[in-house]
Amino acid sequence: MKIACVGGGPASLYFSILMKLQDPSHDITVHERNPAGSTYGWGVTYWAGLLDKLREGDPVSALAVRENSVCWNDGVAHVGDRTTVHPGDEGFGIGRRRMLDLLAERARSLGVRVEYEREITPDELPDADLVVAGDGVNSALRERHADHFGTETAVGSNYYVWLGTTRVFDSFTFSFVETDRGWVWCYAYRFGDDHSTLVVECSPETWTGLGLDAASEADGLALLEKLFADLLDGHGLIGRAQPDGAAQWLTFRTLTNRTWHRGNLVLLGDAAHTTHYSIGAGTTLALEDAIALARALKGHADLETALDAYGRERRAELLPVQSAARHSAQWYENLPRYIRLPPAQMFALLGQRHSPLLPYVPPQLYYRIDRAAGRLEVLRRFKRWLGPKVARSVQARSHR
Ligand SMILES: Cc1cc2nc3c(=O)[nH]c(=O)nc-3n(C[C@H](O)[C@H](O)[C@H](O)COP(=O)(O)OP(=O)(O)OC[C@H]3O[C@@H](n4cnc5c(N)ncnc54)[C@H](O)[C@@H]3O)c2cc1C
Repeated sequence: MKIACVGGGPASLYFSILMKLQDPSHDITVHERNPAGSTYGWGVTYWAGLLDKLREGDPVSALAVRENSVCWNDGVAHVGDRTTVHPGDEGFGIGRRRMLDLLAERARSLGVRVEYEREITPDELPDADLVVAGDGVNSALRERHADHFGTETAVGSNYYVWLGTTRVFDSFTFSFVETDRGWVWCYAYRFGDDHSTLVVECSPETWTGLGLDAASEADGLALLEKLFADLLDGHGLIGRAQPDGAAQWLTFRTLTNRTWHRGNLVLLGDAAHTTHYSIGAGTTLALEDAIALARALKGHADLETALDAYGRERRAELLPVQSAARHSAQWYENLPRYIRLPPAQMFALLGQRHSPLLPYVPPQLYYRIDRAAGRLEVLRRFKRWLGPKVARSVQARSHR
């Protein structure tokens, strides 16, 4: 089979590896528009379950990912000058560039052609039996047929910026800082021996109130360094300088598609779906797409049937994750509801931000129910049963 993957992100690269392992005679090219080693973003998080899946798919790249990752065991939240520690929150971080390099190296070693500085436009799709659109959230290949794919986008209200720092955090760290224009917060985690990443977020009112909308990148970073001075402990923030000096503040676009293929063109990873960054799952989901697509192609001789089965399987699996991501984003949009709670309660509810029930129950009552549910299985089941029902009925009312 001749396969062309458009985009050299984690989804395309991992898919090319799995397909070569399935059948070394597949002729596979990955086309990436950027030069080798240049990529957006800093470090990404993942959890132990992903390593198990990668080991199943390709033990060699799983080992490389694990060996190049760092691990933490605790969560810490700073709210103003109060600190709460939550032991046992295990997670992993890996530099995005490091991950792409090692996946590209593995793909090449199996005979995949990885071509950099090669932008593919929808008008000149490569001649192949299968064209994989792994070209990210702004996928030009998808946008050309947005009606066919049934693309829908919901834009979050808060502004965020993805930054790096040389401050190395031992724990997954949240920090909430109050300004006279509202709260600014970040979460930060380490992704290598000498770097961590921070995602900073605030409401649109705070963003404009602090002048971050008009500030150059350098001025914006200087302001954030001042706000997060205690957290950064003397280290600076590193942005991604734009040619015009503008900062990379964005609002998050949650993207869904009704169908994931059109003829021999199939969507993969962020081109097919996005989930809010606060659940730290986009890369994991992109890799899981690659696994599901490779499996569907192995299980069905007919391409159309395989692509159909892949899309159906993944869309169903994504439903609870998309719901969790939506509620997590809303939790931050409703921050004033939670931020003045006693620290232990605030941190507990931060950990529960994916819950569909939380937005509809007074936070302190929810906290008490959750504590009790932690001890009583029957209550926990009641909470799980009630949550989606309350969320559905409130959403139905708000759509009337
Ligand atoms: C602030 C933030 C924090 C995040 N944190 C995490 C995290 O902690 N954990 C996590 O799992 N995920 C995280 N994510 C999400 C994660 O980055 C993405 O979900 C993931 O990179 C998707 O992989 P992909 O391969 O589908 O697409 P991408 O990684 O976006 O790769 C697409 C590639 O296609 C290339 N391309 C685009 N168009 C063309 C074209 N026409 N021709 C050739 N090449 C093209 C691009 O240059 C790019 O290299 C975060 C995202 C954001 C915004």
